[in-house]
Amino acid sequence: MAENEYDVVIVGYGGAGAAAAIEAADAGGSVLVIEKFGDGGGTTRMAGGNIRSVLDAEKMIDHFHALCDGTTDRESVVAHVEGLARLPDWIERRGGLMRSDPSEKLGAPRKSGPPYPGATPGTGFPGVVGADGIGLRYRWPKNPRNGLSRGAAAWAMLAENVGSRKIDVITETAVKRLNRDGFSGRVTGLVAEQGGKEIEVRAKQGIVLSSGGFSWNPELMRQWLGVAVHSAAPPHRNTGEGIVMAQAVGAALWHMSGVVMSMGIAVPEYEATFSFHIKERGFIMVDRLGKRFCDESKLAGHSGGLLLDGRDHHAALRRRLPSYVIFDEATRLAGPIIATERGFNTDAGWSEDNSMPIEKGWITSASSIAELAAKLDLPADALAETIDSYNRGIETGADPFGRGAANAAPIEKGPFYGVAVWPTLYNTQGGPRRTARGEIVDPWGAPIPGLFGAGELGSIFNTLYPGGVNYGEAFVSGRVAGAAALGATPK
Ligand SMILES: Cc1cc2nc3c(=O)[nH]c(=O)nc-3n(C[C@H](O)[C@H](O)[C@H](O)COP(=O)(O)OP(=O)(O)OC[C@H]3O[C@@H](n4cnc5c(N)ncnc54)[C@H](O)[C@@H]3O)c2cc1C
Repeated sequence: MAENEYDVVIVGYGGAGAAAAIEAADAGGSVLVIEKFGDGGGTTRMAGGNIRSVLDAEKMIDHFHALCDGTTDRESVVAHVEGLARLPDWIERRGGLMRSDPSEKLGAPRKSGPPYPGATPGTGFPGVVGADGIGLRYRWPKNPRNGLSRGAAAWAMLAENVGSRKIDVITETAVKRLNRDGFSGRVTGLVAEQGGKEIEVRAKQGIVLSSGGFSWNPELMRQWLGVAVHSAAPPHRNTGEGIVMAQAVGAALWHMSGVVMSMGIAVPEYEATFSFHIKERGFIMVDRLGKRFCDESKLAGHSGGLLLDGRDHHAALRRRLPSYVIFDEATRLAGPIIATERGFNTDAGWSEDNSMPIEKGWITSASSIAELAAKLDLPADALAETIDSYNRGIETGADPFGRGAANAAPIEKGPFYGVAVWPTLYNTQGGPRRTARGEIVDPWGAPIPGLFGAGELGSIFNTLYPGGVNYGEAFVSGRVAGAAALGATPK
């Protein structure tokens, strides 16, 4: 084989790239994975790692298909659900451990009370057709072999399986563009930048683009989402190059406005945000005018950020950018106001009682509401009136936004605290459109020969995110694309 020539070349060494590499190697191909960072893992390694289980495949297909709002063909949804059903076995046979969470119970009504945002067993859209076909989340418990759990455990399993096969991996090499045969239109290779120099790699059978979405590309965010927002994903990895490269060889795009957008706390010392997750009831959220705008107990974990980036139609201003969470001493002492166990900044040492972020000035504290308003640059009278109205609502049972008493506690005893929260991307869904076999297609639906896509780059999901599906999709679509590049189906 000529140097720099492989059957299958995979762009991006995250979950989808690793699954594609394993499958392509098992199908007998020579495989190269190219990663722009010094190590693999991408978002996959630091994520929660939750994967939805299949309770009733037909219903699950109906449900996911309905959530795609007519933008995804049913065949692709069927392929996804079939792959999902086989995934636990595939993972366990390769040394991984997945279990559904025994503390969750399907069909149980969402329990009232903290934390907020709360997790929904099953799908995030229980009213949509087929919802009862969605099972509990599979999680990655601590694996006794290596002591790892969640995304770290998932990544260790994938990396071990890549390492034990004849798969070449090169890191610190950023793929820049695809080469295409001018006559046949086939994608034949790529150009990457390594150590300041360009290298060329030929792909005899196919290239799999698995370089993630555009959570770290402000220009693509402005163009497709209307605003550049923060991200909780690993900084500067998923910058959308794969999407642009696919466009340059004629790919159709889909789901570019689909996002998983939560709420996060941004601080100067860390580029990625901390995921907002509050453990007690004594809190409200206000806009930049000091006014509440929602029932804060019903904030949705995967789309709460969308509520914050809305624009005032008359003034053309985004008055909830940022919004402020205001809370009291009891809530401060009830536990960290972020998710400490997942995400990129788990090493930050955010203390249980939130004293560390207060000392650092990430959370503002004050002895009175007036002082807090001044420090946060919020209108003091408006903030005082908002808090009075919220406290009165608890007494009378008539919260202006319908927040139930079981989910609210008065904000009365200082010190008082405030922190800015921002819309925060977990991941984007948009990218090159692909078929059920992972083939990237042109705007007329014809596969571009030699080009495949997997993972959150061009996800089959659109704007309605049921929770816990991008992770499973990275595995399933990676497997499909890796095999399809060799004309095979996953083993
Ligand atoms: C905090 C957090 C928690 C999450 N938890 C869950 C969860 O519990 N369940 C769930 O379903 N989803 C979850 N997600 C989303 C999910 O983890 C991702 O969508 C999924 O892991 C994406 O996998 P991927 O392989 O497509 O991309 P990634 O794992 O991000 O891999 C892409 C790789 O491509 C590389 N790359 C990019 N550009 C280039 C280039 N030009 N050349 C070479 N390499 C390149 C990147 O460096 C990266 O390593 C979470 C996301 C976040 C941020």
